[in-house]
Amino acid sequence: MALEAWTPQQLVREYRFRFKKRFGQNFISDKNLLQSIVQDAGVTSGDWVLEIGPGLGTLTQALAQSGAQVTAVELDRDLVQILRQHLEPAAISVVEGDALELDWAQVLQGSGWQGHPLKMVANLPYYITTPLVMKALESALPFQTVTVMVQHEVALRMQAAPGTSDYGILSLVVQYYSQPHLCRVVNAGSFYPKPDVDSAVIRLDVRQQPPVGAPKAALFTVIKGGFSQRRKKFRNALKHVLQDWNLDMAQLDAVLADLNLDPNVRAEALSLQQFGAITEALLALGAQP
Ligand code: SAH
Repeated sequence: MALEAWTPQQLVREYRFRFKKRFGQNFISDKNLLQSIVQDAGVTSGDWVLEIGPGLGTLTQALAQSGAQVTAVELDRDLVQILRQHLEPAAISVVEGDALELDWAQVLQGSGWQGHPLKMVANLPYYITTPLVMKALESALPFQTVTVMVQHEVALRMQAAPGTSDYGILSLVVQYYSQPHLCRVVNAGSFYPKPDVDSAVIRLDVRQQPPVGAPKAALFTVIKGGFSQRRKKFRNALKHVLQDWNLDMAQLDAVLADLNLDPNVRAEALSLQQFGAITEALLALGAQP
């Protein structure tokens, strides 16, 4: 039987595959959705794709059919065996291992990659969404886009704008590295077995240049400090950071005033540019991070 003709239900029966809940296994059972994800990710002929968690290989196959070369990392040994038997070896290499642990450059090189621009595509186990997306965004590999199926709520947080209830550290960090585009909302019925929540496909267009000049480590310290006590004013939430940096509250107040910011402003009202400007001003005052 050709793989395209399979549904996860059939594959599971054929191989007497047992789901492993701990690996977050929810396979896509809607064939149109597979094509949509390939389009959402902008994958075309000649691309090199790193896929995390190929599962039974249905998305992997759709990616390869678009003409891309796919390196797929799968944790579940039973699935790796199924994949190696049935996927087209010229276009797809399957690597067994934990995507959070593995050195991706090594994995890619082992499958013939030589520095080609990369696209990551994944229908992820939801409990590793954030660390995995962060690993991709922070890596030195030439990712152009990172397209992931995540919980709908997480997608909303990634693309949230200042002043909205979804806006927070995740929004700022993701938007520092990329421009997010929510491509589609996917209901639970598109997976087998059905997850408990709705999902969404989000594409992160990776920035080639950071959008603000402030040094990254100091900027992220200010962002995390600012949100450390969500209901507090930004200035109060930043108290510990100021202490660590040998600055005092009066200096922060002067910085906020200089930037025409309300002294009572809360972190969730501040844009990435404003966090950047505050960070640069604190560093200019001699902050010692
Ligand atoms: N992409 C497939 C399967 C999605 S289910 C589809 O859309 O149908 C998530 C997959 O990720 C499972 O196959 C699971 O075994 C795998 N997985 C879970 N944790 C992983 C990890 N740390 N590294 C690599 N793969 C992982």
